Parts: sequence; structure tokens; C-alpha cells
Amino acid sequence: MLTPVLEKLLILQDRDIRRRSLEAQLKAVPQEIALVEQKIAGEKAAIDAAKSELKELETKKKLIETEIGVTEGKLAKYRTQQSQVRKNDEYQALGHEIEAGEAAISAFEEQELAVMYSIDEAKKKFAAAEAVLKANISGHESRIKSLKERETNVSGELKSAQAALEVAREPDGESRLKVYDRNAIRNMPAVVAVHGGKCGGCHLKVSSEVESAARGKGADATTPLPTCDQCGRIVYWES
Ligand SMILES: [Zn+2]
Repeated sequence: MLTPVLEKLLILQDRDIRRRSLEAQLKAVPQEIALVEQKIAGEKAAIDAAKSELKELETKKKLIETEIGVTEGKLAKYRTQQSQVRKNDEYQALGHEIEAGEAAISAFEEQELAVMYSIDEAKKKFAAAEAVLKANISGHESRIKSLKERETNVSGELKSAQAALEVAREPDGESRLKVYDRNAIRNMPAVVAVHGGKCGGCHLKVSSEVESAARGKGADATTPLPTCDQCGRIVYWES
């Protein structure tokens, strides 16, 4: 049989554990939301990266087209000049310029083809990144929504758990609460049963004095609480 004092302490401990678990859940919610938001941001960043890659490639393509235009302009000029010169060496010099210009244009055209191929690839990458976000976003959003709902629910539960805890703390007397609180800071559970002569918290053997005190023979409201010799937890006898 548990003494009324221990019964009260065990109720206090139960409520304390409940409050702690709710607090831990509540603390975890913003971190979980941040993780989901991070995922969304990552997916958006992939889209942005693909978009800017595409933009860069398109700029590159325009630059190449400009170069081709400029070179074609020069070629047209050389051809006109070539048709007007009379001296053979001038004619030949212009011929070299024309050849060089034509070679440059075909090099530019090759570059342009490569860039166009890269543009196709970048477009695919962009579409894939967009598809990933699109496929995931509703899941992400409902996850955030349910996390926020949980936050609200757990806050409410925590409020009532705290109130219940305060009620459980009221009648027990300062010194007993002190022993409980000292243990609860570092040794949860603070109130443990003795089984087979061993403390249920640290699992070490308790002394025979503690064991008989835990049995509560002759204990009344003024008897100090029996505590484990090793870890200091409040102990009680459980047959
Ligand atoms: Zn112990």
C-alpha cells in the first residue's frame, strides 16, 4: 500500500512527465516547420538556378548571333571591295580575309549549335525542377498546416497539464516538494519503486534502512521521505 504522500507524489510526477513531453513536442514543432520550409526553399532554389542557367545561355546565344552578324557584314564589304580591286595582290589579300571570315562564321555557328543544345538541356532541367516543386508543394503545405494545428492543440493541452500540475503540487508540503524538485531537475523519474532491494532509478542496491523506510512501516505525514542512498531519488515499496 502506498502512503497518501507517495500517492500524491506519483500523481505529481505523472503530470510533470506529461508537461515535459508536451513541452518537448511544442519545442519540436517550429523545427519541423523550418525543415519543411527549407525543403520548399531548396526546390525553389533549384528552379531559380535552372532559370538563370537558361538566361545565361540565351544571352550567350545572342552574343554569338551578333558576332555572326558583324562578321557577315565584314564579309559583304570584302566581297564588294574584291569585285572592285584591280591588283592581283589586293584581290588575293581580300580573298584571305573572306576565307578567314567564313571560317570564323562556321566556328560561331558550331558554338551556337552547342549553346542551343545546352539550352534544350537547361529547359528540361527547369521543367523537371518545376515539376518537383509542383508535385511536392501541396504535401509541404498540408504538412505545415498540420504542424501548426498540432502546435495549437499541444499548447492547449500544455495549459491544462500545467494547471493540473499546479494542483498536484499544492498539498504536499515544502520540504517534500524540494526533494522532488531537486531530483526532477536531473533524475527523472524522481519517484521510483524499490524492486528486489534495488532502486528503480539507478538499479543499485539500497541499504536495509532505506528499504524498510520505503516499506513505510510506521511512517506518518511527518516522516522524511525515504531516498536512494546512491542517486537520491525518492523510493517507495512496491510488492
Ligand atoms: Zn537510486
